[in-house]
Amino acid sequence: MQLLDGKKISSLIKAEIAEEVRFMRQSGHRAPHLAAILVGSDGASQTYVNSKVKSCEEVGFQSTLIHLPADTSEAELLHHIGQLNTDTSVDGFIVQLPLPSHIDEHNVLMAIAPEKDVDGFHPSNVGRMALNLPSYLPATPKGILELLQRYEIETAGKHCVIIGRSHIVGLPMSLLMARKATPGNCTVTLCHSHTRNLKEETLRADIIIAALGKPEFLKADMVKEGAVVVDVGITRVADSSKKSGYRIAGDVAFAEVSPKCSYITPVPGGVGLMTVTSLLQNTLSAAKKEIY
Ligand code: NAD
Repeated sequence: MQLLDGKKISSLIKAEIAEEVRFMRQSGHRAPHLAAILVGSDGASQTYVNSKVKSCEEVGFQSTLIHLPADTSEAELLHHIGQLNTDTSVDGFIVQLPLPSHIDEHNVLMAIAPEKDVDGFHPSNVGRMALNLPSYLPATPKGILELLQRYEIETAGKHCVIIGRSHIVGLPMSLLMARKATPGNCTVTLCHSHTRNLKEETLRADIIIAALGKPEFLKADMVKEGAVVVDVGITRVADSSKKSGYRIAGDVAFAEVSPKCSYITPVPGGVGLMTVTSLLQNTLSAAKKEIY
């Protein structure tokens, strides 16, 4: 079994991006600029946004955090988005999800200019991704592709089972693994809460991508010998032995599953770190006008 080491690969990619930023600045360009809008003070969202801002600093990007109170109206939020859409000093921006319940997420995502949508959630980017046209890929699936590619994992002709069909992970992942591309060219089965006999599906999989948000859901008896297992899950589980009072658990029962795998991602230290790196890569692409 070999670990798909998100820590190592994300550090490598960050160093590559930092080098490009140095080159851009030496050639007289400004540094790429990512803006993030956070509405409210949800603990996990704040942690995610802070790590995105910190990563920008690490690679020499400029970053702007717009932190709005939880009672911000949808109209006010759309006004901020409109400003960022036309601000030529900002290359790309994100609106941290989830949003407070009084704001319609769809209206917000639709308002982001596709050319600045570095999260890749706008229908225009999702459609382009589905058609294999240049687009910003959503960060988590993009990070998983990057891991598969850097570890030279063969995907063509393989059976890939994805568990979870969210718009940010499972659904785009299914499109990307089925695309005529490398990594890609898989036969994909997309499983979800209505799937019958999930174990039958996972036992046929060469590659399993677990993104359902149920700690240690995937057990050893659901995985065939030699499978590649990618664990997307991040759930806080109460743990009195930790100072914080919780630990982060993935969707895979790592201790029992890992001996059966050819490759597996750890949690933490796997997909999560790659997600932030993908956002940096998309922002660099935006600054270089590579997609639009
Ligand atoms: P979600 O929470 O929106 O939806 C869960 C999906 O899993 C649904 O499609 C549902 O149908 C499916 N599901 C639930 N129970 C199931 C079952 N018993 N069998 C089969 N399918 C089932 O999904 P999400 O937002 O993609 O989040 C999934 C997990 O990934 C969460 O733990 C989340 O924190 C984590 N996540 C991690 C990253 C990262 O960077 N590593 C990024 C995004 C999400």
